[in-house]
Amino acid sequence: MSGSKIKLATTHDCTGCMACVDSCRHDALHAVIRRDGHYYVEIDREKCIGCGACMKACPVVSGFAYGNNFKSESKPFAAWCRDEELIRRSSSGGVFAALATRVLAAGGVVVGAAMENSVARHIAIETIDDLYKLQGSKYQQSATQEIYSKTLEYLKNGRTVLFSGLGCQVAALYSFLGNRKFDNLITVDLICGGVPSRKIVEKFLSLTGYDNITAYRDKIDGWFDGKGIALSVEDDFSTKRIPLKESFVLTAFLGKATQRYSCMDCRFNGTARRADMTIGDFWGVKEFEEQHFNGISLVIVHSDKGRALLDESAVEFRDTDWNKALVHNPRIAIGKVLFTRYSLRRVFVGWWFDHLSFKNLEILYSNRKGGVLWLPYRAVRYVLWRLQLRYNRRHVERILSSFKD
Ligand SMILES: Cc1cc2nc3c(=O)[nH]c(=O)nc-3n(C[C@H](O)[C@H](O)[C@H](O)COP(=O)(O)OP(=O)(O)OC[C@H]3O[C@@H](n4cnc5c(N)ncnc54)[C@H](O)[C@@H]3O)c2cc1C
Repeated sequence: MSGSKIKLATTHDCTGCMACVDSCRHDALHAVIRRDGHYYVEIDREKCIGCGACMKACPVVSGFAYGNNFKSESKPFAAWCRDEELIRRSSSGGVFAALATRVLAAGGVVVGAAMENSVARHIAIETIDDLYKLQGSKYQQSATQEIYSKTLEYLKNGRTVLFSGLGCQVAALYSFLGNRKFDNLITVDLICGGVPSRKIVEKFLSLTGYDNITAYRDKIDGWFDGKGIALSVEDDFSTKRIPLKESFVLTAFLGKATQRYSCMDCRFNGTARRADMTIGDFWGVKEFEEQHFNGISLVIVHSDKGRALLDESAVEFRDTDWNKALVHNPRIAIGKVLFTRYSLRRVFVGWWFDHLSFKNLEILYSNRKGGVLWLPYRAVRYVLWRLQLRYNRRHVERILSSFKD
């Protein structure tokens, strides 16, 4: 295959997982951040020898037939970490930290997203002292260049690896590994609402003068009802907590209009997963009130390996059912965000961020009031939001009835 025959995922399908970049032995692929503020890949045709390794490593191009494992193999649980300190530093029930602690204590390696200078990046840690770096959700796309080859090295050396990431990143690891199977690999993916444009963070920092975003969530006001979703920022002299409603970074993320195109039709949020376990927030859970302040995770176990690790870790877990799991968190199984992919807000996101004032960006992507067009604009957004809710409800009903068949 010559270099010109190489076809990677399109702009609309590419998840930015970077497995292709990691697989290239000829330095022919490079990660770039395009004007929309998302990672993409560019091919240097001069260096490309057309070996096709990148196409095999790409979870989109190589294809992934997962089957319907939710129905046949998976089991949902309500869960939380027993360690008070670990759960406090985590976004939901601290299940990830408990699993990671178990793996590290047994001499294993844990891979996940850490934050440095407001940029999320996947790293591998080998000691409990570093666990805090991976704890907490960083609501942006993590840079994953080189993490797959690093993980492969650990696996080949016989180390147990707990690899965590978004569904696309876990799928990318498996595509990258190809036919190589490792009993010492355990994977955890997150329920994911999609990753927003980096422009949001850049604009916010450049206009406010803060140096860094240090966290997207805390438990100061508790966890239930999303109370802990608040931005922590720092400059040379102080740290500050910005509540959800006043934080453009968070409201624009939740508004979903700047997400990657692939997140708006995500094939990795579905009723089948490659990971051994999926974790997310157990939104809407009514039971276990004593845990509502500290946080409750929804854990979906997909394999014996996942179940074994859960059993061995310092996690309390209780049976729950699919109905409770899906109703308040349809993103577990539904990858589609309606109406947004081709909207002017998304298609010209780079242009708007380069040219509009912060106030107008807040009106366009967040909840700020202003201007004569604001009311009709909000009315349209409200109608589209209601239609999305209806779509989610129907889809969830269909999934639940398929589980009964
Ligand atoms: C972009 C994004 C969107 C999400 N959307 C949803 C959602 O719609 N519904 C829902 O229920 N849950 C969602 N989550 C997951 C949720 O925020 C918690 O991470 C999850 O409940 C695990 O919580 P925990 O307390 O067990 O662990 P925590 O300590 O809170 O989380 C640590 C884990 O998150 C991983 N992680 C953190 N940031 C990133 C990142 N940027 N990329 C990849 N991995 C990362 C770490 O590697 C580690 O595995 C999302 C997470 C991210 C990063």
